[in-house]
Amino acid sequence: AKKKQLTKAVMYDPVMHESVSRDLIIQQELKKVIERDELDFVYQPQIDSNKNWITGVEVLTRWTHPVLGPVSPAEFIPIAETSGMMEKLTRHQLDWCLSRFAEWIKHFSFDGLIAFNISSGLFRNKNFIAYLEQIITDHKIPFDQIELEITENIQLFSHKESVQTLERLRDLGIRVAIDDFGTGYSTLSYLNQFPVDKIKIDKHFTDQIMTDLKGEAILVSIIKLANSLELDVLAEGVETVEQRDFLKMNGCSDMQGYYYFKPLTLEECEQFYYEKVLK
Ligand code: C2E
Ligand code: CA
Ligand code: CA
Ligand code: CA
Repeated sequence: AKKKQLTKAVMYDPVMHESVSRDLIIQQELKKVIERDELDFVYQPQIDSNKNWITGVEVLTRWTHPVLGPVSPAEFIPIAETSGMMEKLTRHQLDWCLSRFAEWIKHFSFDGLIAFNISSGLFRNKNFIAYLEQIITDHKIPFDQIELEITENIQLFSHKESVQTLERLRDLGIRVAIDDFGTGYSTLSYLNQFPVDKIKIDKHFTDQIMTDLKGEAILVSIIKLANSLELDVLAEGVETVEQRDFLKMNGCSDMQGYYYFKPLTLEECEQFYYEKVLK
């Protein structure tokens, strides 16, 4: 009966209430799946296009609701953030993914990275960072195989706690990447002030390759900046061979995108490794 009611609310609410009730429904339903630890995780490979090899995987969350269908993380993550659900979600994600990752290291001698998206609120949460440190240690995973992706945001590094987190992570050897680089109200000055390891250039710039000359010029200058600061640089959302070639030619060999791989299930990742590595 509960399910029927939900369908009705989603399908037949007057238009003016539609988006409000959808957000509320997502919030309530998400809370349940997080409590029950029922979210799925997928892994998108990151490629070094010079070596033509996988150098890491980024963990992304997937959720299919029985009535709503697949809900994009672009929709539910912000709701989870504003309703205080990210700590639990991310802890479950670390528990699950790091125990699998420990097996990859064992079975495939995997020496690449596993990258987690960390919301800025969590990044300055000391309990969370202590938990992270503990669970990596428990699974005996080398700290330098872990990367945390944090979204670029001016406010992030103005919090004392965030800067302390960065310093703690640097001492441990856990890597930090700035996600969606080049979007929003960015300031470049933090790049040489704070210990970050990588910038991930937003898909928005990759999309401008071959279509927007000024956009290309900005992209090339971001790559040069990263290279001159000796930061790793990876381009997101690479979908075509032209984009790949342009990036390689301009000094950005690390990339991620549908051209190489969509996010894969655990089974697909393992299948890939059995075929490529063990045969
Ligand atoms: P993001 O961290 O920038 O992740 C990249 C997004 O681009 C992912 O979307 C990925 O599936 C998609 N993508 C990758 N390559 C391509 C491509 O070649 N073409 C196109 N069109 N898309 C590509 P997704 O999985 O829908 O995630 C959206 C955003 O939601 C992520 O953006 C991230 O900010 C957030 N997110 C997802 N999972 C988590 C999570 O577990 N924790 C946190 N904190 N955020 C998450
Ligand atoms: Ca990311
Ligand atoms: Ca991104
Ligand atoms: Ca993003």
